[in-house]
Amino acid sequence: MKFQFNMSLLGLMASMAARRGLAFVPSLTTRNALTKSNHHIKPLTRHFLSTLAPPTEQSEAEEIIQLPTNEDDEELLKIRHSSAHVMAMAVQQVFPEAQVTIGPWIDNGFYYDFYFPDTVDKETGEKVPSRKLTEQDLKAVKKEMDKIISKDYPIRREEVSREEARRRINEIGEPFKLEILDSIKTEPITIYHIGEEWWDLCAGPHVESTSSIPKKAISLDSVAGAYWRGDEKREMLQRIYATAWKDPQQLKQYKKMLEEAKKRDHRMLGKKLDLFSVQEEAGGGLVFWHPKGSKIRRMIEDFWKNAHEDAGYDIVYSPHIANINLWKTSGHFDFYRSDMFDQMDVENEQYQIKPMNCPFHCLMFKDELRSYRDLPFRWAELGTVYRYERSGTLHGLMRVRGFTQDDAHIFCLPEQLEDEIVGVLDLTERILSRFGFDKYDIMLSTKPEKAVGSDDIWEAATKALEGALKKKGWEYGVDEGGGAFYGPKIDLKIRDAIGRQWQCSTVQCDFNLPDRFGLEYVSAEGTREQPIMVHRAIFGSMERFFGILIENCSGDFPLWLAPTQFKLLPVTDAVHDYCNEVAAKAKKMGIRVEVDRGSERLAKQIRNAEQQRVPIMAVVGVKEMETNNLAVRSRKLGDLGSFNVDDLLSELSRCSAAAEEMTMQGDKSAE
Ligand SMILES: [Zn+2]
Ligand SMILES: [Zn+2]
Repeated sequence: MKFQFNMSLLGLMASMAARRGLAFVPSLTTRNALTKSNHHIKPLTRHFLSTLAPPTEQSEAEEIIQLPTNEDDEELLKIRHSSAHVMAMAVQQVFPEAQVTIGPWIDNGFYYDFYFPDTVDKETGEKVPSRKLTEQDLKAVKKEMDKIISKDYPIRREEVSREEARRRINEIGEPFKLEILDSIKTEPITIYHIGEEWWDLCAGPHVESTSSIPKKAISLDSVAGAYWRGDEKREMLQRIYATAWKDPQQLKQYKKMLEEAKKRDHRMLGKKLDLFSVQEEAGGGLVFWHPKGSKIRRMIEDFWKNAHEDAGYDIVYSPHIANINLWKTSGHFDFYRSDMFDQMDVENEQYQIKPMNCPFHCLMFKDELRSYRDLPFRWAELGTVYRYERSGTLHGLMRVRGFTQDDAHIFCLPEQLEDEIVGVLDLTERILSRFGFDKYDIMLSTKPEKAVGSDDIWEAATKALEGALKKKGWEYGVDEGGGAFYGPKIDLKIRDAIGRQWQCSTVQCDFNLPDRFGLEYVSAEGTREQPIMVHRAIFGSMERFFGILIENCSGDFPLWLAPTQFKLLPVTDAVHDYCNEVAAKAKKMGIRVEVDRGSERLAKQIRNAEQQRVPIMAVVGVKEMETNNLAVRSRKLGDLGSFNVDDLLSELSRCSAAAEEMTMQGDKSAE
């Protein structure tokens, strides 16, 4: 691994910390702190070293390496896709009644959906209900796959006409394939053969022969139900999920990462730390933020709003519902309807709960005739939207039906675009690095075949996005033709502490909505021109980002986000009033503080506070009360020593405001 920082002790430690995923030491791990020579860095202490590498986490996290992805490794993608074909062939060899449907590659592997019809027992003539795949069945399928792989069948591409494809599908009796054929709009139809044994409709790409598939790097993981075409009125299929990598080490690494992920599951931690819930009584995918989770959200929102105002944005609010005509104008009613909830009747007009904020900001733009002198507008909104996600896809905070986007729209002149994008990237970096995310995987997506807007505007906007990325000095990949139909975009993924990538931030140019809404400004020449609209989000959604955050730090929030920053643990009833006094003082200074009820022994009090991930505790006995000194304990570092109450509170409040961890050493002379 190449270090991007100079190899001073500081740089080395930061790189080590970053590789171990111990990203929550903002003053050390952000790029800014390391490259800006004038940045104030506190003297290193023994305690500080131990925050960088807590002994318990070190050994586990040290081996984490970055696994390849479908986007950056075409060979891996071919292996996954070819494995899906081999698995489908194997399933049909083991269970001849199985019908094949679709089997795409996905992150970390692939799946394939099969239909198992009812069968008839040949001897008794009795109806046998359709097979439900078991773990044992998966083992049999994997064994068959290994055989196919060992035989080294060539994988051959063939082009046929639509009629020929239809004839062949009818010949093998695969009704679902006929529907797939009908959905393919282009010709010729491509077929991939595995030797002379098996074939499937497919656009590819694939490996050359089955022996290129590393059988020890493939594992069939689970079976799940899935409706054909995701339509609950159609057949229920059985989906086999599988993991596939390039070599067994990668598979091992991946399994280890899964184990680590399980320990950090945000749904489990959300309950344990009383942060949020999803209530069946209220319906799936609707999130309840409990007081502790809400405290964290407020910290995040306050920071987000301040950072936006610093960056020249205005914060706005818009309604939750609007007349359906607005959604017809925007085009969402036509193109996005399956993701929208049904309309509601309001005095014989149809109203829609919003799935997006964009049309509202367009209306605000249109509210007055704008001049080129007014631009750019940067309007940011924490806008709560509702989307009709199917119940099968809902997952904790990661996939929900109601969520708050950290949305913003920029309306600017074409010549302002590049600077505006640089501004967005700067702000994105500032905000994400505050949470310890300072390594990004960036993709620029360009004009697809079907697109609105002139070639000129596409080219200028794409150049502006490229120019902005170059100004930032960020490496990025290009997804040719991968842009939205309405404009080019930049997507940014963050990497978490266990090497997973999460797509959060996006910056998208839009030539469509300004046109549909007839947005214009008066140019310097007095003509009416269309502004460029940019959509952008940094977290994506508050809910999902919170989920990522919980998993990234295992619920061990940094001091500035911890819902309870400081807990007083009274040793005897005699000090209870004193504890309350200290707590009241702390509260006034903006510190989130709790006092233990004191009904349990000290060891138990400490354990409870640690389980609740309280970063700083103070043990208070009669001696402490009389001297106004507290015996302070850090969850990460153990005993910090004895502190004067006022010194401690002001340091706590300073560290919290600056998003720094507490690293002070106690005044030993006071003991
Ligand atoms: Zn294929
Ligand atoms: Zn938008």
